[in-house]
Amino acid sequence: MFDTVITGGTIIDGTGRRPAFRADLAVTEGKISAIGAFESDAARETIDATGLTIAPGLIDVHIHSEIALLLAGNPVGRYGALRQGVTTQLLAPDGFGWAHLDDQQRSEMWQYTEFSTGKADLGPPWPGAADYLSLFPGNTPANVVPQVPHLPIRQAVMGWESREATDREVARMGELVAEWLDAGAVAFNTGLDYQPVAYASTEELIALSRVATEAGAIYAAHIRYGILGREEAWRETFRISQEAGIPIHFSHENVDGITGPLLDEAAGRIDVTFESYNYAAGCTHLAQMMPTWAQAGGPDAVIERLQDTAIRAELTAYLEDRLTVSDQRPAKLVIAANQSGRDIGRSLADVASERSQPIGEAAIEMMIEEHPYALMVFHRRMSDEENRERVRATISHPAMMVASDGIYHGTFSHPRSYGCFAQAIRLGVRELGAVSLEEAVHKMTGKPATRFKVANRGFCKEGYAADLVIFDAATIADGSTWEAPLAPPTGIARVMVNGEWVVVDNEPTGRLPGQVLRRQDWTPPA
Ligand SMILES: [Zn+2]
Repeated sequence: MFDTVITGGTIIDGTGRRPAFRADLAVTEGKISAIGAFESDAARETIDATGLTIAPGLIDVHIHSEIALLLAGNPVGRYGALRQGVTTQLLAPDGFGWAHLDDQQRSEMWQYTEFSTGKADLGPPWPGAADYLSLFPGNTPANVVPQVPHLPIRQAVMGWESREATDREVARMGELVAEWLDAGAVAFNTGLDYQPVAYASTEELIALSRVATEAGAIYAAHIRYGILGREEAWRETFRISQEAGIPIHFSHENVDGITGPLLDEAAGRIDVTFESYNYAAGCTHLAQMMPTWAQAGGPDAVIERLQDTAIRAELTAYLEDRLTVSDQRPAKLVIAANQSGRDIGRSLADVASERSQPIGEAAIEMMIEEHPYALMVFHRRMSDEENRERVRATISHPAMMVASDGIYHGTFSHPRSYGCFAQAIRLGVRELGAVSLEEAVHKMTGKPATRFKVANRGFCKEGYAADLVIFDAATIADGSTWEAPLAPPTGIARVMVNGEWVVVDNEPTGRLPGQVLRRQDWTPPA
């Protein structure tokens, strides 16, 4: 007797190679127990999936969801990715994390990263990786996968200091990296435009990557865009790969005139993958618009700096130039979250003109009044046609996987958070025809599972965990828009995690079957 049989559906197995096929799928004790043809009385529960597609639960390798997953009081955010079928979500995107820190340090790091997580009551500090990971079992509807968080590791060893690490400090950081790897981390993850890791030398990154190489983990990075520029930052990452002998993964990237040739150059020489969310806008905190020196130090240091008259004048002029609309600049900055909740969803330019202020001054004022780390959506200067061309080149690239970079707090966000995966099928498969449905699913399941060593996930095969998404391939679509970024997707019938239904008819069931998945439990797909 099976626990559940799903009948009448079409299975996409996650390999990207096998065409979709008609079969019933049986689930027993949290695992896919059989694929074939079964009588309706063979299981305690039978689900009719006639006309629908059954795929492995989707895996998001870059998503700022880990705090939202734990919070019953934030149901919209908690289920933002799961309602798209994302059953496994990686921790520590951009190297963010809060373990190893004392109360004071953690509260500063929390303020710094609050743009990505929102406010939360954290309880006592987490001295080690295992303490932090113990939050998840029994408390999350989706699975989580640890990555090594570079930010708190550097902060624990060096505070917010804006300098290179000594050999001793690198050695101490290496011990904390090893602690995360022992706890199951699949990648060393960093965000080199963020503090305090913006001051990590390439040698520090190589040394810490070597620890990851030995464990069989990879290097995943938000590269040093702000400091080096995109092309040089890609080259620095290539160097890290070669000197540490580590496979590399680029966070939130696209294929265009800069990266296309770099990917060609790496082919056959450097082991590269990257992920994309496929929208013509980015999303991060406002202080990122300032030069790196102005962002140095913790939140208090930044506020203090902004109140110095001479520095303020210099930064106001810098931001005035950087934020004034021109061909080289973001087309529009929209306020997504801040402390007061004022002006959410409005553009910074509109707020400035309402206050009769130049935009540089309005930006500085917002950082002082609110927080240097107000969450902003940065619209790129790109026509719809240019964006579609870029999506076509990106999603069809063999090294590409889909990941949202989603943010799940507050009343306004980037629509990628609630629509990225559904959009990739609607736009990439149905509208552009850039990839087949099987390839698109592979880029959301088998590919990230194999690259990041996500144990027993990513494939619809007997013996794999029963993480599943059932959707209508003809109608699945993103509902989130620039104006209504929290709207859920459509066309997704059911989502299962570890054999339990977590979403039925697009509504969460309230079950919390998520587990922590460790690298050590991974085996290569047969
Ligand atoms: Zn990032």
